[in-house]
Amino acid sequence: MAIWQKLSEKIIDTHCHLQDFDNPLAYAAELEQKKIHVHTVTISPGQYLSSKDTFKDFSYISPALGWLPFMLKDPLSHKDLFFDLIDQTTLIGEIGLDYKTDDEADRKLQRQIFEMIVDKSAETKNKVLSIHTRCSAEDTLAIIGPTFPGTIILHWYSGSPLLMKDLPENYFLSVNNAMIKSRNGKEILKEINPQQVLTESDGPYLDKPENIKVVIESLASRWDMSIEEAADLIYKNYHRAMKNEL
Ligand SMILES: [Zn+2]
Repeated sequence: MAIWQKLSEKIIDTHCHLQDFDNPLAYAAELEQKKIHVHTVTISPGQYLSSKDTFKDFSYISPALGWLPFMLKDPLSHKDLFFDLIDQTTLIGEIGLDYKTDDEADRKLQRQIFEMIVDKSAETKNKVLSIHTRCSAEDTLAIIGPTFPGTIILHWYSGSPLLMKDLPENYFLSVNNAMIKSRNGKEILKEINPQQVLTESDGPYLDKPENIKVVIESLASRWDMSIEEAADLIYKNYHRAMKNEL
C-alpha cells in the first residue's frame, strides 16, 4: 500500500536477529534507507560485540546484549563477559527461559541465569529487556516480579492470555506475524491493552522487519483504527518503553 511510503519510519522492530540474515550489511543499508528501526538481539555477549562492530555505521540498527542459555553449549562460560558489558547498553536481549526441555537441572540453570540478569538490570531504571518465554510464562513473570524498574518486552508471548490482563504499565508485548494469525495469539490480543503493544519480526526465523506493516494493518482493524492511528499508537508506545521524550 502506498501509505507505507510515508509511514515506514514508524515501523520499529524490537526483536530481530539481523546478523543472521544473508548479507546483513546490505540488508541493514536497505532498512536504514527506509528508516525502519531495528533492535538486533543476540544470544551471547560475544555475538553482541560482533553485532556492535558490524552495525557501527548504522543509526537505525541497535544491538542488544543477549545471553540465552537454552541456545548455548556451556551457558555459564558467558557470564563474565555479559556482566563486563552490561553497563554499555540499555538494550538487553535475547534473554529468558525455554521449557521445551524436560530436564529439571537445565531449567534450573536457565532460571539462575535469568535471575542474575534481572537482578543486575534492576539496579538502574533504564534497561529494556527483550524476553523469551516459551512454555515458561509463569516462572518468567515470577522472576521479574511486580516492581522491576525498567522496561519489560515479552517477545512472541504464547502463554496464557489471562496472564496478560492488567499487566503493569512498564510491560509490553512485541507482537509478530505468527501471533496475529494463531488462535492463542488472537486471545492474547484481546486481553492486552493496546498501549502496551510493540512489534517485532523475529527475523530471519519468522519474518522480515518491513513486513511488520502487515502486523500493524491487522492490529488497526482489531482496534478499529486507521492504519496511521495504529502505527502512531505503537510508535508512541515504543518511545514510552524506551523512556524517550517525543
Ligand atoms: Zn529471537
